[in-house]
Amino acid sequence: MAAARGIGNNGAPVSPRAETARGEARPQVRPTTEGWKQKLGPDGRPVLQFAEQKRGKPPVHLADLTLEQRVARVTELGLPGFRARQLSNHYFTHYTSDPEAMTDLPAAVRDELVAGMLPPLLTEVRRLRTDKGDTIKFLWKLHDGALVESVLMRYPGRITLCVSSQAGCGMACPFCATGQAGLTRNMSTAEIIDQVVQANAAIAAGELGGKKRGETTPERVSNIVFMGMGEPLANYTRVVDALRTMVEPQPHGLGMSARHITVSTVGLVPAILKLAEEKIPVTFALSLHAPDDQLRDELIPVNSKWKVDEALDAARTYFEATGRRVSIEYALIKDMNDHAWRADLLAHKLNERGRGWVHVNPIPLNPTPGSIWTSSEPAVMREFVRRIEAAGIPTTLRDTRGKEIDGACGQLAAADDD
Ligand code: SAH
Repeated sequence: MAAARGIGNNGAPVSPRAETARGEARPQVRPTTEGWKQKLGPDGRPVLQFAEQKRGKPPVHLADLTLEQRVARVTELGLPGFRARQLSNHYFTHYTSDPEAMTDLPAAVRDELVAGMLPPLLTEVRRLRTDKGDTIKFLWKLHDGALVESVLMRYPGRITLCVSSQAGCGMACPFCATGQAGLTRNMSTAEIIDQVVQANAAIAAGELGGKKRGETTPERVSNIVFMGMGEPLANYTRVVDALRTMVEPQPHGLGMSARHITVSTVGLVPAILKLAEEKIPVTFALSLHAPDDQLRDELIPVNSKWKVDEALDAARTYFEATGRRVSIEYALIKDMNDHAWRADLLAHKLNERGRGWVHVNPIPLNPTPGSIWTSSEPAVMREFVRRIEAAGIPTTLRDTRGKEIDGACGQLAAADDD
């Protein structure tokens, strides 16, 4: 109600091109924030934060280290190098950091070894479940008190974990809950990995509901999306190290398939091009949300640095380098970016760069608390999808799992207000 009224009162100019398929004029709502203010720079644009606040570093953990470094560190602790493999096996295969469980290690050294190699990184603050229990949102506290969230979701045939890569986010997108508080700090590689290990432990303990009878899926996280808090490519080195550990076979890593891991970005072009060269063929997603710079400049503030065409060129390069079809994320926002001409322009810009290289994922906007913005009407969404599909581009309207526990896309804003 409030949302509809707010938009109606916005007094936004009606763009002559803003028409539905039925030909009626549609308003053009401009992105403005309500209930909070974006920090603006001297140029009047939202401030982007790439540098983190100075904070103490999280403790070094086995998952921060290469295989050689793990052996070296165990040796430093005065133990034979093969103990590193045993520890990795406990952590990556059995999801445990509990010295009591490690009966293959000499009792006298277990505590010291675990303290030195597997220090606690994420302390659970809260866990929220949907009614069906097939979605769990975890709120974690890091060693310095910073808060992050991850969301675990069971789907038929797969279990997906949405992970955070930064505490907060510096990209200042006005429609995203995480962006509102700015960047606190980058997460370490092991803090990123530990979200998966902890989720696997919860699954192994039978805590994720929704399992169908006769379901044969292995009971562990099968898919990871970097769509939690943070901009993964702004924390490049640690995220790429985490990707390597995710795909490294057990017992040294999580043994996941790269194609089941999705890295999503606002469009940091140099980092996209670098990722394309890493030879870890993860799925790549670009959060486009508008095909025209006029709107995207406001919707995704980093568009002031890298324009729509540059971001799309980089996405195309990613496809060429990896052979992996890329995804275009598009949150459908009523009267803001859901106009038929924008669907046509998006399809045109994608087809201009070739066929068969891209998939569009529109998702209804999840309005953040207090926001005047609202999701597009179902008929408008259908028309948007229809137009892109008619241009020959596969398009899947995504669901908004976890809404009732504030666990849906764009809703992650870790506030521990107990
Ligand atoms: N920083 C990265 C990853 C985190 S956000 C990125 O921007 O891609 C993951 C996805 O959720 C992005 O596509 C983002 O644009 C989208 N998103 C953010 N807020 C949203 C909201 N309120 N409703 C729907 N999607 C949202």
